[in-house]
Amino acid sequence: MALSDLNPVERNEEGIAAVLGILKQTLGERFQTGQAVRSQHAHTTTYIPTQAPDGVAFVESTAEVQEIVRACAAHRVPVIAFGVGSSLEGHTNAPGGGISIDTSRMNRILAVNPEDLDCTVEPGVTREDLNRHLRDTGLFFPIDPGANASLGGMAATRASGTNAVRYGTMRENVLSLTAVMADGEAVTTGKRAKKSSAGYDLTRLLIGSEGTLGVITALTLRLQGIPQAISGGVCPFPSLEAACKTVIATIQMGIPVARIELVNALQMRAMKNYSKLDYPEGPCLFVEFHGSDAGVAEQAETFGMIAEENGGGPFLWTSVAEERTKLWKARHDAYWSSLTLRPGAKGLSTDVCVPISRLAECVTETEADIAEMGLIAPIVGHAGDGNFHVLVLMDVDNPQEIALAEKFVARLNMRAIAMEGTCTGEHGIGQGKIGFLRHELGHGVDIMRTIKQALDPLNIMNPGKILPRVGH
Ligand SMILES: Cc1cc2nc3c(=O)[nH]c(=O)nc-3n(C[C@H](O)[C@H](O)[C@H](O)COP(=O)(O)OP(=O)(O)OC[C@H]3O[C@@H](n4cnc5c(N)ncnc54)[C@H](O)[C@@H]3O)c2cc1C
Repeated sequence: MALSDLNPVERNEEGIAAVLGILKQTLGERFQTGQAVRSQHAHTTTYIPTQAPDGVAFVESTAEVQEIVRACAAHRVPVIAFGVGSSLEGHTNAPGGGISIDTSRMNRILAVNPEDLDCTVEPGVTREDLNRHLRDTGLFFPIDPGANASLGGMAATRASGTNAVRYGTMRENVLSLTAVMADGEAVTTGKRAKKSSAGYDLTRLLIGSEGTLGVITALTLRLQGIPQAISGGVCPFPSLEAACKTVIATIQMGIPVARIELVNALQMRAMKNYSKLDYPEGPCLFVEFHGSDAGVAEQAETFGMIAEENGGGPFLWTSVAEERTKLWKARHDAYWSSLTLRPGAKGLSTDVCVPISRLAECVTETEADIAEMGLIAPIVGHAGDGNFHVLVLMDVDNPQEIALAEKFVARLNMRAIAMEGTCTGEHGIGQGKIGFLRHELGHGVDIMRTIKQALDPLNIMNPGKILPRVGH
């Protein structure tokens, strides 16, 4: 079934024309309808075709978002929130047209409270901007998706990254949100207390809702102290299984690893060429430890011994910042390095997550599937969480290749679900994974639909995402 059939959205031409007129008047230059800017706001980094909105509003305040949502509600026009557009499953597409709310000008850091280890920011602040701002305070915000994403987009997709094994995901690191709901009312979901038992958890209802319930206009975030010492390095393994066993033993022994990233042989080849790394072309773990000087040295030594017991090593590690930065830059550039494996091809990036005891089995079966289907598809993973990504390189103008890639993704998702895992550990559902939600959550999908209908009865907030149409 085509993606658009999983949750079709009809265009409301009359309503769209009315809202375009209103926003041109109220926002002037900050409302744009040119083809290039519209396409850029629905551009997908994958094979899912672009479905552009009808106009893009560059908002500057919560009040302005409220005004736009009220106009869209009055004329039944879709509202699609936009951070930096780095999501991977067609999240920012506008299948029924509508208005993209670009939050990039809402980029102020409103408060930093070092004594409480928290800060409040507008949604367009990116993770790198925030960490640059925090540098002199001795604090940092740990969630690091590969892209320099906006914090609003990261909350909306419940993002994580390489540090999640130690610091958690956006779910654990957002204390409170302000959001404009579908009726135009703004709600703040909590205060700055580190914990609360006050009623339903609206913060976590909005986290991961992908703009389908409200537009986030402020976030209060937990911060962490920059560790006194950091050590890290790369450890080669004879097989993926040996690497995965090492991950499990490291976690089970309670070593507080901050990052533990799995890279398969093909991905390692791409990274070696692209980032000029001098390591063997086999499966590797990229590892990092945070703590005191003595603590990180001890953790690195213990990890090295575990790796050796599983046939891996030598584990070469360092505390020198420049050397570590080079390694992690290479890891964060994995996506771009992969594209060099097939010049001219586009990548379909997909992620699944399984209990770590099933990681070796899931990754090994997936590698075998890639070989059997004749695909070029490197694997990287946030292995400490049982989360891994496959980037299928393909010619997006070739329908046969798209069909093969979709078949592969379907098999991968169903394999992860069968292993008591999830069809997405961090990228989200968007349009690309709608077909797998019912397989994973069953009746949970109906409860989600009830929530959606209660909070957005006109279905204007990012329609056509997350939920399959009724009966699916
Ligand atoms: C190279 C690369 C590597 C990546 N690595 C990772 C990774 O390691 N971990 C990971 O989790 N993700 C990863 N991603 C995916 C992506 O970076 C995340 O999903 C990110 O959180 C999206 O943020 P964004 O600002 O780009 O949001 P957008 O793409 O602009 O939007 C994403 C979704 O959030 C909604 N949204 C955006 N802003 C708001 C708002 N203010 N209020 C309500 N809804 C909003 C949108 O409507 C949309 O549904 C990667 C992407 C790339 C391209």
